[in-house]
Amino acid sequence: MQIYKVGGAVRDRLLGKPVTDIDWVVVGATTEEMLAKGFRPVGADFPVFLHPKSGEEYALARTERKNGRGYGGFIFHASPDVTLEEDLIRRDLTINAMAEDDQQNLTDPYHGQRDLEARLLRHVSPAFAEDPLRVLRVARFAARYAELGFTVAPETLELMRQLSESGELEALTPERSWKEIARALMEDQPQVFIEVLRECGALKVLMPEVDALFGVPQPEAHHPEIDTGVHTLSVLEQAALHKQPLTVRWACLLHDLGKGLTPEEEWPRHIAHEHKGLKLIKAVNERFRAPKDCQELALLVGKYHTHGHRALELKPSTLLELLQSFDVYRRPQRFEEFIAACEMDARGRKGLEQRSYPQADYLRGAATAARSVAVQPLLEKGFKGPELGEAIKGERLKALKAYKEAAPA
Ligand code: ATP
Ligand code: MG
Repeated sequence: MQIYKVGGAVRDRLLGKPVTDIDWVVVGATTEEMLAKGFRPVGADFPVFLHPKSGEEYALARTERKNGRGYGGFIFHASPDVTLEEDLIRRDLTINAMAEDDQQNLTDPYHGQRDLEARLLRHVSPAFAEDPLRVLRVARFAARYAELGFTVAPETLELMRQLSESGELEALTPERSWKEIARALMEDQPQVFIEVLRECGALKVLMPEVDALFGVPQPEAHHPEIDTGVHTLSVLEQAALHKQPLTVRWACLLHDLGKGLTPEEEWPRHIAHEHKGLKLIKAVNERFRAPKDCQELALLVGKYHTHGHRALELKPSTLLELLQSFDVYRRPQRFEEFIAACEMDARGRKGLEQRSYPQADYLRGAATAARSVAVQPLLEKGFKGPELGEAIKGERLKALKAYKEAAPA
């Protein structure tokens, strides 16, 4: 049997990037031989093994054939007579379809190295169209390598366009899509992921609510960039620049969905867009079965981001409602993430990226003030049950009034 390094490990070494996980392909071996060498079998659909010591993935060279919709619609064929070239041709991009032996000799039948130099994300063969997940993967790689100057080859973009129109994207499972979306949002330029999806028409299928924001104007006084889609991309870009976690990035992407519902007669104003957007945010959340913390934060940011911007003008009672809605007493981190998302929203505007955001510290101070109310003295006064709740609220309100009065105007 011959063993080769494949995929990302070869690509990233040639790019001079750090290699984190290594995938291997094994040519000329049977499952029995692998087991005899102590490899542990994984993967239900095709023969993949874990190395007994390193734990890295070793896959038998295989071919695949499409005979139905979705990922389940593949027939895999792995046997000792499948060649390295046959295995590589089923891969998504030419830069991912190179293999390397233990002497660093490169096998590159589909010219991945040439495309690396040309900074092109290009599909290996027309079979690319057989797995719609590849549309998301290409957009994700475009986001990851944008800073190196990579773009999607025109003919690949065309294939992605056809795939998006064919209805195949709808066959993707929420789990597979979410994994790609989450990884893409955590790249340094996640806005490129959304841009590429939009360019090939996949955004309209996957997240029509986000796609609908492009072409929707906002008041120039607050939004010099005017376009709501452009604004959304900038907010996402700011979130990445500020190294925000996935929860915040997800909330940034979805915070303004309500603006896509504003009747044209009302443009460029978007009255009550926060509230109107909630059902859209919920729909996108559920479509991809986003993790609970992502779902929650996106809904809260959607509902309250304008409160965040107006923090210094809020009445103490409104501030209190805000803090209560976030359950800031038990979930301080979530409120921090809300503040971060608001700040990214404020900075994701043309020419305003460097502005200060005094609302952030003001909100933190308010949370501290409300949290400082001690429950023990109220218990000692004999408050119980619902009355205790009301008494705590009353004290918190007093604390917030004092906080607001003391705050520099
Ligand atoms: P990363 O750095 O994100 O891990 P990677 O290229 O190693 O990038 P993996 O998902 O680990 O990506 O997959 C390893 C290799 O398997 C890829 O380089 C590619 O050759 C192939 N591959 C993975 N998923 C697909 C797919 N859906 N369609 C075609 N080829 C794929
Ligand atoms: Mg990998």
